[in-house]
Amino acid sequence: MAKHTEQKEKIVICKECQKPEYWGTMRWLEGRCLCRRCYRARWERLNQREYKWDDLDGPRPTMEEYQEQEAGKCVNTN
Ligand SMILES: [Zn+2]
Repeated sequence: MAKHTEQKEKIVICKECQKPEYWGTMRWLEGRCLCRRCYRARWERLNQREYKWDDLDGPRPTMEEYQEQEAGKCVNTN
């Protein structure tokens, strides 16, 4: 009965910048859950230097994808 559905990464909205981000890439810093963009900005402010690693790069979800995900929820909750 359980249909095999494509495992899409869940998209959440970052509370700091209101932009969509993949749940799996959200990071905790000082008790806040931040998207990669906010994490980087905050890290740089805290450490007073450039965040030079590339682990925060990669594709980011769009608002359209987030809305698609939210719309899909209503359809699939049988
Ligand atoms: Zn953010």
